[in-house]
Amino acid sequence: MARITKRVCAVPECPAIQAEPRCPKHRTERDRHYRTTTPTKATRTHAERQRRAAAVADHKRKHGNWCPGWQRPAHPATDLTADHVDAIANSGRPDGPLQVLCRACNSSKGDR
Ligand SMILES: [Zn+2]
Ligand SMILES: [Zn+2]
Repeated sequence: MARITKRVCAVPECPAIQAEPRCPKHRTERDRHYRTTTPTKATRTHAERQRRAAAVADHKRKHGNWCPGWQRPAHPATDLTADHVDAIANSGRPDGPLQVLCRACNSSKGDR
Protein backbone atom coordinates (compact mmCIF):
# COMPACT_ATOMS: atom_id res chain seq x y z
CA MET A 1 0.00 0.00 0.00
CA ALA A 2 1.43 3.35 -1.03
CA ARG A 3 2.15 5.88 1.61
CA ILE A 4 -0.16 8.85 1.42
CA THR A 5 1.40 12.23 2.00
CA LYS A 6 -0.96 14.65 3.63
CA ARG A 7 -0.76 18.28 2.66
CA VAL A 8 -2.43 21.54 3.36
CA CYS A 9 -5.00 22.83 0.88
CA ALA A 10 -3.39 24.94 -1.89
CA VAL A 11 -5.90 27.71 -1.30
CA PRO A 12 -4.33 30.29 1.04
CA GLU A 13 -5.80 30.40 4.54
CA CYS A 14 -7.69 27.13 4.06
CA PRO A 15 -6.57 24.92 6.94
CA ALA A 16 -7.83 21.63 5.48
CA ILE A 17 -5.32 18.79 5.29
CA GLN A 18 -5.70 15.90 2.86
CA ALA A 19 -3.78 13.75 0.39
CA GLU A 20 -4.72 15.90 -2.62
CA PRO A 21 -3.37 19.39 -3.32
CA ARG A 22 -6.78 20.83 -2.45
CA CYS A 23 -9.50 20.05 0.07
CA PRO A 24 -12.72 18.53 -1.39
CA LYS A 25 -14.49 21.88 -1.21
CA HIS A 26 -11.81 23.82 -3.05
CA ARG A 27 -11.30 20.99 -5.51
CA THR A 28 -14.97 21.20 -6.44
CA GLU A 29 -14.75 24.97 -6.78
CA ARG A 30 -11.70 24.78 -8.96
CA ASP A 31 -13.20 22.07 -11.16
CA ARG A 32 -16.29 24.16 -11.68
CA HIS A 33 -14.17 27.18 -12.57
CA TYR A 34 -12.08 25.07 -14.92
CA ARG A 35 -15.15 23.71 -16.66
CA THR A 36 -16.72 27.12 -17.22
CA THR A 37 -13.51 28.79 -18.43
CA THR A 38 -11.94 26.02 -20.50
CA PRO A 39 -13.76 24.95 -23.64
CA THR A 40 -13.90 21.23 -24.14
CA LYS A 41 -12.13 19.94 -27.21
CA ALA A 42 -15.33 19.02 -28.97
CA THR A 43 -16.53 22.63 -28.97
CA ARG A 44 -13.39 23.83 -30.72
CA THR A 45 -13.60 21.78 -33.89
CA HIS A 46 -14.66 23.35 -37.15
CA ALA A 47 -17.37 20.73 -37.65
CA GLU A 48 -18.86 21.44 -34.24
CA ARG A 49 -18.88 25.21 -34.85
CA GLN A 50 -20.62 24.61 -38.17
CA ARG A 51 -23.13 22.32 -36.52
CA ARG A 52 -23.94 25.04 -33.99
CA ALA A 53 -24.16 27.74 -36.65
CA ALA A 54 -26.53 25.51 -38.60
CA ALA A 55 -28.66 24.95 -35.51
CA VAL A 56 -28.93 28.71 -34.93
CA ALA A 57 -29.71 29.37 -38.60
CA ASP A 58 -32.35 26.68 -38.55
CA HIS A 59 -33.88 28.10 -35.38
CA LYS A 60 -33.97 31.62 -36.87
CA ARG A 61 -35.60 30.31 -40.02
CA LYS A 62 -38.36 28.68 -37.98
CA HIS A 63 -38.78 31.12 -35.11
CA GLY A 64 -36.97 34.34 -36.08
CA ASN A 65 -34.83 36.24 -33.56
CA TRP A 66 -36.63 34.71 -30.65
CA CYS A 67 -35.12 33.04 -27.61
CA PRO A 68 -37.21 30.20 -26.09
CA GLY A 69 -36.01 31.37 -22.67
CA TRP A 70 -34.27 29.48 -19.87
CA GLN A 71 -36.35 29.57 -16.68
CA ARG A 72 -38.01 32.69 -18.04
CA PRO A 73 -40.57 33.32 -20.76
CA ALA A 74 -39.61 33.36 -24.43
CA HIS A 75 -38.37 36.75 -25.55
CA PRO A 76 -36.87 38.48 -28.60
CA ALA A 77 -33.08 38.08 -28.90
CA THR A 78 -30.56 38.62 -31.66
CA ASP A 79 -27.56 37.05 -29.95
CA LEU A 80 -28.70 33.46 -30.23
CA THR A 81 -26.23 30.64 -29.66
CA ALA A 82 -26.52 26.88 -29.85
CA ASP A 83 -25.27 24.82 -26.95
CA HIS A 84 -25.60 21.28 -25.75
CA VAL A 85 -28.78 20.37 -23.97
CA ASP A 86 -26.59 18.29 -21.67
CA ALA A 87 -23.30 20.12 -21.17
CA ILE A 88 -20.29 17.98 -21.94
CA ALA A 89 -19.05 18.95 -18.48
CA ASN A 90 -22.12 17.13 -17.14
CA SER A 91 -21.18 14.04 -19.14
CA GLY A 92 -23.30 15.03 -22.13
CA ARG A 93 -22.26 13.66 -25.50
CA PRO A 94 -20.24 16.04 -27.73
CA ASP A 95 -22.53 15.16 -30.62
CA GLY A 96 -25.65 15.31 -28.47
CA PRO A 97 -28.66 17.49 -29.23
CA LEU A 98 -28.25 21.25 -29.32
CA GLN A 99 -30.46 23.88 -27.77
CA VAL A 100 -30.71 27.42 -29.07
CA LEU A 101 -30.80 30.20 -26.47
CA CYS A 102 -29.64 33.81 -26.28
CA ARG A 103 -26.31 34.42 -24.55
CA ALA A 104 -27.91 35.63 -21.35
CA CYS A 105 -30.13 32.55 -21.03
CA ASN A 106 -27.29 30.28 -22.05
CA SER A 107 -25.03 31.62 -19.32
CA SER A 108 -27.71 31.35 -16.64
CA LYS A 109 -28.21 27.78 -17.80
CA GLY A 110 -24.47 27.22 -17.39
CA ASP A 111 -24.74 28.46 -13.80
CA ARG A 112 -27.26 25.91 -12.71
ZN1 LIG B 1 -9.43 24.27 0.90
ZN1 LIG C 1 -32.93 34.28 -23.73
